[in-house]
Amino acid sequence: MTNEELWQSVLARIQLNTSRNNFSAWFINTNIFSRTDKEVVVSVPNKIAKEWIQNKYHKDLLKALHELNFSVKDIKYQIVPASQIAQKEESQEEEYSNISANQLRFEQFNIDRETNLNPRYSFDNFIVGSFNDLTYAAAQAICKNPGTAYNPFFIYGGVGLGKTHLLQALGNKVSKDHANKKVKYLPSEILTSEIVNAITNNTIEDLKSQYKKYDVLIIDDIQFISGKTKTQEEFFNIFNFLYQKNKQIILSSDRPPKAIAALEERLRSRFEGGMIADIGMPDFETRVAILKKKAGERSVDLPPDVFEYIASNIQKNIRELEGALNKLIAHTKLTNQKIDIESAKNLLKNIISPNIKKKNPQKIIQIVADFYNLKEKDLFVNCRKKEIVKPRQVAMYLLRKELKNSFPYISKLFGGKDHTTAIYACKKIDLELKKGDSLSEEIEAIKQMICSC
Ligand code: ADP
Ligand code: MG
Repeated sequence: MTNEELWQSVLARIQLNTSRNNFSAWFINTNIFSRTDKEVVVSVPNKIAKEWIQNKYHKDLLKALHELNFSVKDIKYQIVPASQIAQKEESQEEEYSNISANQLRFEQFNIDRETNLNPRYSFDNFIVGSFNDLTYAAAQAICKNPGTAYNPFFIYGGVGLGKTHLLQALGNKVSKDHANKKVKYLPSEILTSEIVNAITNNTIEDLKSQYKKYDVLIIDDIQFISGKTKTQEEFFNIFNFLYQKNKQIILSSDRPPKAIAALEERLRSRFEGGMIADIGMPDFETRVAILKKKAGERSVDLPPDVFEYIASNIQKNIRELEGALNKLIAHTKLTNQKIDIESAKNLLKNIISPNIKKKNPQKIIQIVADFYNLKEKDLFVNCRKKEIVKPRQVAMYLLRKELKNSFPYISKLFGGKDHTTAIYACKKIDLELKKGDSLSEEIEAIKQMICSC
């Protein structure tokens, strides 16, 4: 196995547990630089990527190597600037084009270095239906007149429903139609890490003046700045500067501004000050249309009952629809066999399985912890800290409402002495919900996440 092949296999494993944004943000321009039996040296394009991969992915990378039967004991990281590997990329691209459909989508590696945009996302391959038509219409208006139509433009919706696609299509179209406008797309994790690094290196003013040059600034998954005080402070400053100069700001989130926990009030009100648009769930006919279009793009045709089978079993996530389709396409291409409903059911049995879809306490606890930016174990700490008390009560409330778990069971799970712990938590949340503040939006957003998981 060559270094490239090995790295592709490692990345294929990492990609399974990493969001598309994170994956393309951190693993672009990485490779295996050298290796011995005991050690692999991974080349990374810059210091930020090096620190991020080292801190967040080191263990996963080692695990992936072990799964591939390598006895590597350690991984080192070496910065190799993108310009030095540019030549290599050309030959790599040829190799990548041979990889079957359900393996790495290497189009990600064509990301534009100036704008950070991926050309694969366009309006041509974006399907519009009643679940996203208003958001789409607003996006079109912005393309015509960036900075004047809707500012800021805040898009929210569940996982895998097309937020990143829409944001990037918007960025690509503005770049194309208004060549003089400087567009920048940033996943919010990158915004945060750039700000944190600049503060550490005393270069925050330079960074801010760089951001202030953009005519269109797009930040994806802005909910991740929840609880990040420094990022919020600096972003507030950048936001105001751009806004006053009629520069377009576009944000996406998995929940509305009201439901983003630990977000400074002044930022929340800025986010709410423009156009807020949501992306809902596509209905059955739209899901079939999405599958047909995506199969068509790959020049594959499948029987109508196969499209319908996928569309009726995967309802809440377009990424999962695509995943199922990719699996079938890869199979036909590799085996040259036609897919019928029986083989589709068989091939998709791990994706479409009632057992996997079942909600369980573990999943609910994990989603609540993620939502409030906490570790799962924090929810089990019986303390009076405001940041913990509410999420803990929300978790108990959802176990009761969503799973109908008994009060004694829930109390015991959360270390309560008797069943009153859970009863108290549920009553408290019910009471808060009646007051009608932002909690009901938070709980709605969490429920959506539980359903789409
Ligand atoms: P999100 O950012 O909301 O989690 P993405 O934008 O990453 O979701 O979408 C997930 C996948 O589904 C992507 O591959 C994207 O191209 C595809 N997708 C989402 N919405 C649409 C749409 N309306 N038409 C075509 N493809 C879509
Ligand atoms: Mg996204």
